[in-house]
Amino acid sequence: MKQNTGIVWFRLDLRLRDNISLVDALQSCDQIIPVYVFDERLYSLKSKYGFRRIGIHRAEFIIESVNDLRKSLQKSGADLIIRFGKPEDILFEIARKHNTTAVFCNKERTSEEVSVQDTLEQKLWSIGQEIRYSRGKMLYHTGDLPFPVNHTPDTYAAFYREVGKIIPIRPIISAPSSIPMYPGSIEPGDLPDLKSLHFDIEQKEGLDFIFKGGETTGYQKIDDFINYNLKTNSPNHNWEEMRNSQTTHLAPYISAGCISVRSLYSALDEYSEHNRYKKRVKCLIHGLIRRDFYRLMAKKNRNQIFQKTGISHKANNQLTDNMELFEIWKDAKTGVPLLDAFMRELNKTGYLSPEGRFFVASFLVEELKVNWQIGAEYFESILVDYDPSSNWVNWNHIGGVSLDSKEDRYCNIVTRARKIDPHGDFIREWLPELASIQNSNVHEPYKIDPDELKKLSIVLGEDYPVPIVDTEKWI
Ligand SMILES: Cc1cc2nc3c(=O)[nH]c(=O)nc-3n(C[C@H](O)[C@H](O)[C@H](O)COP(=O)(O)OP(=O)(O)OC[C@H]3O[C@@H](n4cnc5c(N)ncnc54)[C@H](O)[C@@H]3O)c2cc1C
Repeated sequence: MKQNTGIVWFRLDLRLRDNISLVDALQSCDQIIPVYVFDERLYSLKSKYGFRRIGIHRAEFIIESVNDLRKSLQKSGADLIIRFGKPEDILFEIARKHNTTAVFCNKERTSEEVSVQDTLEQKLWSIGQEIRYSRGKMLYHTGDLPFPVNHTPDTYAAFYREVGKIIPIRPIISAPSSIPMYPGSIEPGDLPDLKSLHFDIEQKEGLDFIFKGGETTGYQKIDDFINYNLKTNSPNHNWEEMRNSQTTHLAPYISAGCISVRSLYSALDEYSEHNRYKKRVKCLIHGLIRRDFYRLMAKKNRNQIFQKTGISHKANNQLTDNMELFEIWKDAKTGVPLLDAFMRELNKTGYLSPEGRFFVASFLVEELKVNWQIGAEYFESILVDYDPSSNWVNWNHIGGVSLDSKEDRYCNIVTRARKIDPHGDFIREWLPELASIQNSNVHEPYKIDPDELKKLSIVLGEDYPVPIVDTEKWI
């Protein structure tokens, strides 16, 4: 009897646990062909403003995650077929050659990813096959929401009112204990390294790779967070402090799909009624729901989230494509210490805390009046946890082109900076040239008497830049 074979196309769901498309494939097919394709376009083409589409931190994270997935599949009796090229061509060729029945994958929401899956679907139809989509990327199942996707409320507050605490989160699914691999002959393919993905290896020098990719590390990190971070931290934070401190650092794992958001939710939810932890847990769960909101916004507004006029269809006319100012911001040379400290951290690690992202993005838009799209493209390239919906919708918000943006978003930079880093410790860590300023005046070195600064071996304009913006307004 002919065996029914399905292809499981792993995309941004690099895990076996709680992977709905994998489960759907195993339920429908006798045997499967698991495939991951490094999309050549993302490693060779540049973005509109000239950045690599995937920077070195994310590339390394993806390589590690794909490697971990291959090992897990091998332990379950299967393997991962790895290729480099165009997914729509490679998957089609495998489907045609091995006469499979369908390609199973978790559905993506943003335009480029949708275009790849649509092209593949058209090609599969020509040989009597199809794509079977699953919805495994969100906390909520879209079918459970009380509105169709194109009627998603336009503000997070309204969205939360309609779904928070009302819509149940579906239970998580365990990893399959064994996976029947298609026995036909298919070359497994080598895991690429950074060099084969066109990275200059010497670029690694001087950078920090603080996240090790993969499902194994991701799930371990959920346990570590619950046991060592959530349980051991003081519950006496106010809301603002909680929002800004001790976050999970799980975004890279969520964005690459090494862990499912439902798994994190389920681990957190156990503590949601516990007095000691509930405020903090609530805050983190809000982050996960916000992520769903951004995915739905991206789906509802399609390409518009990438346009200058954003979701609101109204451009912020004050903003320009001033690349000179952008470069100063990017290279951490603004002379505004917290901004430069955050940018050094971002450039070195590919990661920035939520308040760090908000701070640097707002500075680019509100102080430097630079087009928010350039910042969004740079984040796309540099962030280890880049996610199209989360990144671009957050930038729409900061660029003043979302329907959730406040009219008057101006905020005193120094007040904000002092709230984030009250004693200046973070600045001293990332800007050693200012480390001799031992108190919180490190936020405003330009206000310190030059003779005083000289005694601390600092000359503004030589050791550290003079601010590129007018600082008088922050007094
Ligand atoms: C300009 C800008 C760009 C951003 N770009 C991205 C991006 O490309 N990828 C990304 O995952 N997040 C992005 N964020 C959202 C947020 O800053 C990160 O998710 C967060 O810093 C990740 O750290 P964490 O895992 O410790 O978060 P935690 O606070 O521990 O939150 C847990 C998870 O909830 C989700 N989450 C929390 N807050 C948000 C939010 N505001 N938007 C979307 N998801 C959220 C994330 O998946 C996060 O990992 C961006 C924010 C801003 C202001």
